[in-house]
Amino acid sequence: MALIVQKYGGTSVGSIDRIKAVAAKVKSWSERGHQLVVVVSAMSGETDRLIALAKSIQPRPSPRELDVLLATGEQVTIALFSMALEDAGCQARSYTGSQVHILTDSAHNKARIRDIDAARVRADLEVGRVVVIAGFQGVDEQGNITTLGRGGSDTSAVAMAAALKADECQIYTDVDGVYTTDPRVEPRARRLDRITFEEMLEMASLGSKVLQIRSVEFAGKYKVPLRVLSSFEEGEGTLISLEEEIVEQAKISGIAFNRDEAKLTILGVPDQPGVAHKILGPISDANIEVDMIIQNIAADEKTTDFTFTVNRNDYPRAMEMLRSTAETLSAKQVLGDNRIVKISLVGVGMRSHAGIASTMFGALAKEGINIRMISTSEIKISVVVDEKYLELGVRALHEAFGLAGETAA
Ligand code: ADP
Ligand code: ASP
Ligand code: MG
Repeated sequence: MALIVQKYGGTSVGSIDRIKAVAAKVKSWSERGHQLVVVVSAMSGETDRLIALAKSIQPRPSPRELDVLLATGEQVTIALFSMALEDAGCQARSYTGSQVHILTDSAHNKARIRDIDAARVRADLEVGRVVVIAGFQGVDEQGNITTLGRGGSDTSAVAMAAALKADECQIYTDVDGVYTTDPRVEPRARRLDRITFEEMLEMASLGSKVLQIRSVEFAGKYKVPLRVLSSFEEGEGTLISLEEEIVEQAKISGIAFNRDEAKLTILGVPDQPGVAHKILGPISDANIEVDMIIQNIAADEKTTDFTFTVNRNDYPRAMEMLRSTAETLSAKQVLGDNRIVKISLVGVGMRSHAGIASTMFGALAKEGINIRMISTSEIKISVVVDEKYLELGVRALHEAFGLAGETAA
């Protein structure tokens, strides 16, 4: 008998029929003698709908009240899901995040889980109930409802699995595993049987939304066996595992991309100590995260050009700040572009294989794709290119690194 935490995402519980189908699946797991904790998301489209409602009143809704509103999405699903289980003859109890004490910090809309009191859940499991928990939400020390950021139900599930020392955490979604790249962009993408925590973490932080970044961090830290699989069809899915468990190392495991990018450039800044700080200080004080940074000496060798990227949502604010910094520093010009994307190759095999960057640049050049920025780390290479080249770039790289396989989707 195993203790399993299963998470079902928005499309997997997107209609009453889907909820009934998934409840039947859960029931069959329970009938095989396993203890089941089910974490569910809001029905697909619901979180977006609630955000739009809030924005129709306040363009930047009060973070606390937004959390109160968004948490209702998941509360609807837990109740319906438990009803479906009961209706199928399976004993179940639903709980909101606050009821099972998913304690978080107070950072509304992006809270971090601090602790979970698993006693209540255990008591239900002991008497043979399936426990259904609202994902994406928690409660802070003061009793305020918090949410964990978009895609946060993944993290709720992994945290619950860690707290219960579950045998496995299964993330059920609308694809049957983690693919070499998003199958919506490259239909020839191939499902991976296994991927390391480290690679999955890079993929997630570079834009692959199949798992929330924090869920992968959590699973790696607490060694939670994590599997991504389909709620629509049977299959083994993808196991996220430790590096030593993966025998054969591919050069590249996957391609991630991020459409939410924007880049800003300040030209002709005096080349003096403290300039980078003067440019980025106000940006970071405004809580805007900076991703890539490039600084280049200009041809006159007395001034420097400075380019960095931020999330597209932060672009207008960052532009405004950079313009005012440019005035103070008597810089020549400020340029900006919010129609760019970042494409990244990820693979622990990069550590032992040379020539990956040059194959990457060659493949993009062959398609006439201009690279605007480059950044590398031990297991990834990222390039920034014009938005219009996203699909072409991803497919060209997928081909160049031979990622499509016989089991192509
Ligand atoms: P859920 O609502 O179940 O949480 P998400 O939409 O958050 O589902 O995540 C699943 C989606 O992630 C897939 O439909 C797919 O388009 C996207 N995706 C992005 N990158 C990948 C990848 N490398 N492998 C599989 N799916 C990916
Ligand atoms: N419902 C939330 C969202 O849409 C959380 C989740 O689905 O994981 O982001
Ligand atoms: Mg998701």
